[in-house]
Amino acid sequence: MRILVVDDDPTSRLIAEAAVRDLGHECFSVSDGDEAWAAVQSGRPDVVLSDWMMPGLSGLELCQRIRSRTTGEYTYLILLTGQRSLDHALEGMSAGADDYLIKPLDPGDLQVRLIAAARVTYLHTQLARQRSELEALNTELTSIARRDQLTGLGNRMALQEEFEKLEARVTRYGHRYSIALVDIDNFKSFNDCYGHQAGDQALRAVADQLRAAARKGDSLYRYGGEEFLCVFPERAVPGGAIAVERMRVGVQKLAISHAANAIGVVTISAGLSILDPGATRPVNEVLKEADEALYRAKELGRNRVESALTSTSLNVATMNTESVRL
Ligand SMILES: [Mg+2]
Repeated sequence: MRILVVDDDPTSRLIAEAAVRDLGHECFSVSDGDEAWAAVQSGRPDVVLSDWMMPGLSGLELCQRIRSRTTGEYTYLILLTGQRSLDHALEGMSAGADDYLIKPLDPGDLQVRLIAAARVTYLHTQLARQRSELEALNTELTSIARRDQLTGLGNRMALQEEFEKLEARVTRYGHRYSIALVDIDNFKSFNDCYGHQAGDQALRAVADQLRAAARKGDSLYRYGGEEFLCVFPERAVPGGAIAVERMRVGVQKLAISHAANAIGVVTISAGLSILDPGATRPVNEVLKEADEALYRAKELGRNRVESALTSTSLNVATMNTESVRL
């Protein structure tokens, strides 16, 4: 173990240092309480063997200070004193000491105390390691539970959490979001024609394309079988439409064969809606509007983006894609 000896008396300090080293431990020493406190923080000893009466912080105050730390690591404390009284011992133990030795230091007594110290220190180290392993595992499980296995995008659970945050930000801070529902055209026919393995590959390729076309801060989710949901923060419908249009063109450019589609390759349709500070609609209603816009995109021939905002009647399909910086 790594042991810090604290004593203002040079002779007592030398005796303690020699005893600690003779027992096979690493030893470093200081001569007052303030230096000891600094050494505890920088040197991280397993055990502090401290005199009681010292200039600066007393042994008792040093105990209290070490015990008030919230860093999680444990430092085993043995107080050394010249007084042999029960009250004195109780005072030291109450202040946070783990053990108590009477001066002059007896090497045999010290050896016995350090065996207990090693045991306690080992247990604390084990506990700290297990706790950090559990925390890491917990973080990983939290992340896995919110990810769609096939595409790596967020799943419905992650989306539900995002929606709650979105609504809070819209209500409190007046933020706005556009939301797009994206669906792979004629996907059932694709699976029927090319098989489910090819279907999974297509889903992954489309998801990757959506990811590539999204900007930092946009969020993507697998919403259903071949349906995806995109959240575009701080964008009104035109901004969101440009992003989705970029996705639509990108998917088409993947040129994945799809015989059931008129143009012979896999394409997507999308419906857009907005969650804005002016309207106090619940997010589910916004989602329903996006779904209706998606339905319209399908009705109008697929491979297109439709907006739910009839008032601005933004028909993205008529946008010249060359004018959109893709
Ligand atoms: Mg002293």
